Amino acid sequence: MDKFDVVVVGAGPGGGHCARLLAKKGYKVLLLERYKDFGRNNFSSAGVPKEILSKFNLPENLVGSWWNRFVVVTTHRKRIWHSKENQGCVLDFQKMRQFLADEVSCHGGEVWLGCRHIDHIERDNDVLVTIKNNLTNTKIEVTSKVLVDATGAMRGVMCGKEKKKPSLATATGVEYLIEVDEKVYNAHAGALTFLLGHKWMPKGYSWVFPMEQNILKVGAGIYNQHHELIKEVKPLGHYIELLIEKYLQAKNYKILDIHGETLRYSSGLQDTYNDGRIIAIGDAVSTVNWLGGEGIRHAMESADIAHRFIYQFLEGERDSFDGYQRQMHSIFLQKWNLCERLAKRKYSQDTDDLVNKAFSYLEGMKLEDVVDILFYYKFEKISKGLVAFILRKLRSIFLK
Ligand SMILES: Cc1cc2nc3c(=O)[nH]c(=O)nc-3n(C[C@H](O)[C@H](O)[C@H](O)COP(=O)(O)OP(=O)(O)OC[C@H]3O[C@@H](n4cnc5c(N)ncnc54)[C@H](O)[C@@H]3O)c2cc1C
Repeated sequence: MDKFDVVVVGAGPGGGHCARLLAKKGYKVLLLERYKDFGRNNFSSAGVPKEILSKFNLPENLVGSWWNRFVVVTTHRKRIWHSKENQGCVLDFQKMRQFLADEVSCHGGEVWLGCRHIDHIERDNDVLVTIKNNLTNTKIEVTSKVLVDATGAMRGVMCGKEKKKPSLATATGVEYLIEVDEKVYNAHAGALTFLLGHKWMPKGYSWVFPMEQNILKVGAGIYNQHHELIKEVKPLGHYIELLIEKYLQAKNYKILDIHGETLRYSSGLQDTYNDGRIIAIGDAVSTVNWLGGEGIRHAMESADIAHRFIYQFLEGERDSFDGYQRQMHSIFLQKWNLCERLAKRKYSQDTDDLVNKAFSYLEGMKLEDVVDILFYYKFEKISKGLVAFILRKLRSIFLK
């Protein structure tokens, strides 16, 4: 039977990064992924701010395209923020996860694709992990000193089988990868575009991200909760086609891929973070931001934190993962609670007018400030926009 120091279940951004950091430290690491290649669950739009590359040591060849514009379209208005400098990029999600897995192998770790964690039993000095190889339909047993749940929204290790999941809010996103002509592509290149407002995507938002020359990611996401004003919502495909037809006005386009996923979030971050020799990271502990659905950077940050706890555990410097949840909460809890409250209003209460008004406060701001608010959650900056908004209003009244 193979023996490992660490088995990481799930080769998303969180699992791949955690396995890579531990393999780099010289531990015997196994990274498991249920799909046989990274093209299978290529679900994420992967729009991120540019710091991700330097913060997590990712090479530029994982970038599909850069963005220096941010566009918000509400039911009756379109607003554009622009910067001379790139503020972020759209990653190639498939390439990125492949890169992380390759790094694990490079540092002496093992990567088993097409292999699913199905069970585990914790013993005195290790965990016995049962894996199903989906390709050969066989069961394999391995032992590990530490088991990492990086299964994303599934929480497949920590909440597998008999264990109870916390109550979870859900949101579902579907995305088409489409090939368009040069004119349509150029109109949307260099920009992250979000379509809000009830006309475009009630109870959620739709988006257009540039992927690479003549290829766009267009998608729609819905928060699966009751809205006080919206009674009927059509299937997500309807809103993606509406976007393609009415917003992009693309007459000839080719669908290259359709993918999607459901995110699950624990209100107040009440997930189980660690249990004996098991530790959970990424979406398995609700690191995805519930207001905007950005989760790649945050999953990787949790992997960074968890890998330090695992290192100390393996070195005998600590005998449990106690303190991990506290550290995670010190980073995420306050900001995530605020985002959750805003998300609740936006996706289950707000009128179309209010959705529009929220963005009018950001008008006149630099793109850098908008990025600080929407990606770094510096909501205190909104007051700056609010003052400018009031001055604009007063000026328009008195200068009439
Ligand atoms: C439609 C959509 C668009 C998004 N767009 C963005 C965006 O633009 N920017 C952004 O930052 N975030 C975005 N997100 C969120 C982001 O993709 C996630 O938050 C992020 O991928 C979470 O990383 P993770 O490693 O925790 O989990 P995941 O990426 O979900 O990875 C979990 C992995 O575990 C594997 N797995 C599950 N169970 C098992 C098992 N039993 N055995 C073996 N393997 C298993 C899965 O196959 C998967 O590969 C988007 C999400 C969706 C759904």
